[in-house]
Amino acid sequence: MTHRLHRPEDLRRLVHAMILAAGWTEAEAQETAEHLVLANLSGHDSHGVGMIPLYFQSLADGNLKPDAKGRIRTEAPPFLIIDGAVALGQPNARNAVDRACAIARDQGVAIVNLLDSHHIGRIGHYAEVAAAAGLVSFFWVNVAGRPPIVAPYGAREARFGTNPHAIGVPVPSGDPLILDFATSRMAHGKARVALNKGEPVPPGYIIDGQGRPTTDPRHVFAQGLTGDETLGALLPFGDHKGAGLSLIAELLSAGLMGAARIDEKPEKSWIINSLFGVVIDPARLEPDERLRRRRIDSYLAFVHAAAPQDPAQPVLVPGEKERQMRAARAEIGIPLDDETWSQIVAAAARHGIDAERYGS
Ligand code: NAD
Repeated sequence: MTHRLHRPEDLRRLVHAMILAAGWTEAEAQETAEHLVLANLSGHDSHGVGMIPLYFQSLADGNLKPDAKGRIRTEAPPFLIIDGAVALGQPNARNAVDRACAIARDQGVAIVNLLDSHHIGRIGHYAEVAAAAGLVSFFWVNVAGRPPIVAPYGAREARFGTNPHAIGVPVPSGDPLILDFATSRMAHGKARVALNKGEPVPPGYIIDGQGRPTTDPRHVFAQGLTGDETLGALLPFGDHKGAGLSLIAELLSAGLMGAARIDEKPEKSWIINSLFGVVIDPARLEPDERLRRRRIDSYLAFVHAAAPQDPAQPVLVPGEKERQMRAARAEIGIPLDDETWSQIVAAAARHGIDAERYGS
């Protein structure tokens, strides 16, 4: 499968035009286009512009609606509970996190629960938003509206979503620490990218419908299977540890407040995320910024100085890989495989947009 390089600006303009043409507002189009292209720039193609065909399928099915908007259910600082109304996810979650940051600046801490949003994308994005405001953040997210896809530790069938988890810590002297991952060993979207490219996934990531190890990504997509095969599962990262974190993410984000859960049969085909977050002002813990800076810098220098196993691969801290990738892709462009691009072209055409006109 071949791929083409796209300039980030071209993809941003294309996604912006598509979202606007489909009936969302200028601000929603802007936020979503920025978010998706930044995910590609960061190297997370699974959560980049390749999601647009899925969103537009949800729209065409009448499930995702441009006039759906999130609504505050409770704002009693430090608590903030928002009904996500299955509205377009990136603007929905950005609004929740911006409001939580305002509460944390005022109160020292905010506890936010966004219930039932449409897919909110790369969770590290929100940790970056909080870190840019000088705030520490922790986020747990569930994935509902579709069948379970991740097996509990030791199970041969799925019970979880890929339930991501993100933590952001601002570093006063430089770039923040952003730890952001799916609790499956591989994000489902990365298996989709492998499927679209016609490539196998590495061993140890997937089991088939019989619980046997496989490297064939078809086994985690219902549409990839023949009639007599059953859906397989992604495995949790870190065995029982990742599986435990996935279970906690489901309960915190959706289980406490009664949002859509993975154990409910989905009424429609869409991806619903609920988010539970804690945002903290670190100045309430250590008001002296110079001391905070010195402590964090000296610890990060200690970690970076660890001798690498491979001299060509220096030791990184969370968030660095994405920043390196952003610098590289801003130069060379964003690679999109032919299948992903043709899906985007078809989705754009349904709204009267010729995606090829946004290309280099
Ligand atoms: P991943 O396995 O690539 O892990 C990324 C994390 O590991 C980052 O914090 C990164 O900085 C760090 N990292 C990577 N290499 C490193 C190294 N060499 N040294 C130190 N740290 C390193 O991520 P993933 O599990 O594939 O998740 C991809 C994305 O998918 C995430 O942004 C996640 O939020 C998103 N996601 C979203 C949903 C949803 O429903 N919205 C579901 C699942 C995943």
